Amino acid sequence: MSPDDARDRLVERLRKRLDVDEAVLAAIGSVPRHEFASDATMERAYADRPLPIGADQTISAPHMVALMADLIDVSDGDRVLEIGTGCGYHAAVVAELLGESGTVYSVEYVDELAAAARDRLDRLGYDAVHVRVGDGRDGWSEHAPYDAAYLTCAAADGIPDAILDQTRVGGRVVGPVGRRGRQELVRLVVQPDGHERERHGGVRFVPMVGDQE
Ligand code: SAH
Repeated sequence: MSPDDARDRLVERLRKRLDVDEAVLAAIGSVPRHEFASDATMERAYADRPLPIGADQTISAPHMVALMADLIDVSDGDRVLEIGTGCGYHAAVVAELLGESGTVYSVEYVDELAAAARDRLDRLGYDAVHVRVGDGRDGWSEHAPYDAAYLTCAAADGIPDAILDQTRVGGRVVGPVGRRGRQELVRLVVQPDGHERERHGGVRFVPMVGDQE
């Protein structure tokens, strides 16, 4: 099966399973996931499952990427902070939702993953995604304030303060919170005092490096 056909089938399955914006499904339908996972067969790249990307890390399953992309609720021109670039797939999906002038600023802890993601994103033309090596618990203050932020690794004790501080009032922050086996996906809307908080069910993500296990 060609990558385009495999991706179309994936989008059809996600449309039946998830209540997400059509723009999010279109984004999943545009990003060549098979280019992001080194030795994935077409079948594996477009199954709705996580994929190994080296350094003991995985890209989330497409339904999780779609759900999170829906929950950050972005529009054209938005500036988005990502913690955990991994292979760059999730950032590419979000970049598809930001129009010509939006930008994703992504922080990755592991040098080799950041370097490989940067090369791959450049090669595939995702100029709107900027990657830096660092500890995502500090966010990326130079480009704040962000319209939205999300974490692709689980924060043991709640979304780090730096990430909330770097998100504008009204901005959305989405990510897994909790320890292995007891994580849930949370969505916060940043407010001047106290943030609105929603819970979106149990999830399984790799832990954030640096957090206590
Ligand atoms: N969104 C990624 C999936 C990433 S897996 C993709 O589409 O491929 C989680 C990533 O978070 C891993 O690459 C891991 O190295 C990174 N990570 C873990 N702790 C981190 C931290 N403290 N700061 C930045 N990145 C971190």
